[in-house]
Amino acid sequence: MRAVSEWRNLMTSAVPVTSKLPDIGVSIFSVMTRLANEHKAINLSQGFPDFDCDPALVEAVAKAMREGHNQYAPMPGVLALREGIAAKVEQLYGPRYDPVTEVIVTSGATAGLYATLTTFVRPGDEVMLFEPCYDSYVPVIRLSGGVPVFVSLRYPDYTVNWDEVRRAMTPKTRIILVNTPHNPTGMMWSADDMRQLQSIVDGTDILLIGDEVYEHIIFDGRRHESLLRYEDLRARSVVISSFGKTFHTTGWKVGYGLGPQALMAEVTRVHQFVTFTVHTPSQMAFAEFVRRDPGAKDLSAFYQQKRDLFLQLTAGSRFKPLPCAGTYFQLMDYSAISKETDKEIAHRLIVEHGVASIPVSAFLYEDAGGPVLRFCFAKRDETLRAAAERLVKI
Ligand code: PMP
Ligand code: GLN
Repeated sequence: MRAVSEWRNLMTSAVPVTSKLPDIGVSIFSVMTRLANEHKAINLSQGFPDFDCDPALVEAVAKAMREGHNQYAPMPGVLALREGIAAKVEQLYGPRYDPVTEVIVTSGATAGLYATLTTFVRPGDEVMLFEPCYDSYVPVIRLSGGVPVFVSLRYPDYTVNWDEVRRAMTPKTRIILVNTPHNPTGMMWSADDMRQLQSIVDGTDILLIGDEVYEHIIFDGRRHESLLRYEDLRARSVVISSFGKTFHTTGWKVGYGLGPQALMAEVTRVHQFVTFTVHTPSQMAFAEFVRRDPGAKDLSAFYQQKRDLFLQLTAGSRFKPLPCAGTYFQLMDYSAISKETDKEIAHRLIVEHGVASIPVSAFLYEDAGGPVLRFCFAKRDETLRAAAERLVKI
């Protein structure tokens, strides 16, 4: 087999290329995972479990395949799964969505976000984002000619500053994107934040997009403040989630979006030309599993144990943990160790100490950020132990 480097730069393009995203490089998650592999470092960078999903889920996919569910699913998704999602949402958050017209299954949350943003963002529209923010929002907004407007969640507590939100609002504000629980900080929006949001959007035409992929990874008895819980908010919301986080299946790329029929009719129009439809056997399996355990009832405890183990194992280190209310990410303040930038220290941690993390500045556009790195604790206990052993020596 040829080495990858031998394949590089073999072809010359005969057409000039003007990038639509000139300042966007390879995703930080790919970069750090590649570096981790190159240096054989313990990979706590990209967010994915290093343990397997329930074998019964794999068996359910295999069974669906054996039973012949191998062709296109209905474009908006397998109906049994959409029914399962609607039932789950009703049970957990209250509202009853119509599985036929108000729920779609997407190729991960990424494609759900892509379809939703491209559906609604028009040239010149302002989309309010809270930074640090997940890396897929800004490129999609720009591809649609929209303008991201950033409100900072500031180190070290990353709470929403509502005065700043009010100052950032203009007549062009078309969308506010809310990600809770929040990647990368682990912060969660409070009921008071939701009340503030209600008062801000009341009487406007602002659409809300909820990225709630970590809805089932919530710690210390907190309540997930979904946009779906609030009647006036959900009436103007498309909420996106992902089975990847909930079922330890990030590689299957199955997610979903839901919202009022008038909004979803438009999102569905776009969705059919993004992926048209999603892997049928996985949808069949998730339909069964969502029905069986709509609230993923043991997941929060499972990850809370991992968060606490990681905190306990690193307690003797010079890294200082920041509060983590949800998600499977732990921020660590490294200011007692060095004055390097987060990118420099993240690189050095891989090369010299064999532990990969994510520099939080990769999620920042305007804010300067703080001296923090993000560590993913969706890992086997022995992986966390091995990583912590290295971190305490730094
Ligand atoms: N939003 C957030 C906040 C995420 O962390 C992720 C993935 N880690 C996604 C969206 C994308 O989810 P998916 O892998 O289902 O596309
Ligand atoms: N969302 C995951 C993270 O934050 C990674 C997803 C990706 O690699 N695009 O690490």
